[in-house]
Amino acid sequence: MTLPKMNRVLLKLSGEVLMGTNQFGIDPAFVLELAKEVKAAKDTGLEICLVIGGGNIFRGMAGAAQGMDRAQADYMGMLATVMNALAMQSALEQLGVETRVQSAVQMDQVCEPVIRRRAERHLEKGRIVIFAAGVGAPYFTTDSGAALRAAEMKCDALLKGTSVDGIYDSDPKKNADAKRFETVSYSKVLADDLKVMDASAVALCRDNEIPIVVFSIREKGNVVKVLSGEGTQTIVTDHTA
Ligand code: UDP
Repeated sequence: MTLPKMNRVLLKLSGEVLMGTNQFGIDPAFVLELAKEVKAAKDTGLEICLVIGGGNIFRGMAGAAQGMDRAQADYMGMLATVMNALAMQSALEQLGVETRVQSAVQMDQVCEPVIRRRAERHLEKGRIVIFAAGVGAPYFTTDSGAALRAAEMKCDALLKGTSVDGIYDSDPKKNADAKRFETVSYSKVLADDLKVMDASAVALCRDNEIPIVVFSIREKGNVVKVLSGEGTQTIVTDHTA
């Protein structure tokens, strides 16, 4: 299946890809490589909204598993996503790409708050808008933040760049016979619990008919390949024919 003609996309990057080959945190050299991928996508003429996770620094669930209050741990996770957004902003600006960070948790000295009309203006001016702090509430993830911003900003697709090259019928790390879907419906992802994004994010995309494209961001040049229909990916859509 090829993607319909797109003008604006939301690109979601998992926090873990910012670690590079490290086990934790941010590898600035690797963030610069990722920024080149984002710039290449923008250079195809697309308007780009960007959401970056925080799992390379802190996940609320992990904190809660160690006895922290879940909401408190989630606030920390949200702050981690702001750090990642600032790192990506810095890398993109090194490449001469204008960006603005908008955070769902207000921090005026550091970045703008999320204001849709202002974000629209930034995109019109050719800037990339990086949305930080997810939906701004605990008990959510940045996947839900990405789905929400994709709907709010009327994006034509949500591209999820992660460490695997699509959605498989079982874990490809554990099962050598695992098969990758070319396309899969939202309801199958939800019913079979296919662990690609959390259920609230998938449901929001389904209800707003936003295709989700899952691909590996670790492969150089892959964003542009996926955008041109030549990459390896899985597309989540109800148009699976
Ligand atoms: N988080 C949250 N609300 C949101 C978005 C994120 O509470 O709307 C917290 C949550 O603790 C999450 C952490 O921020 O685990 C980091 O985000 P996520 O796990 O989505 O990052 P990723 O897996 O994409 O790196």
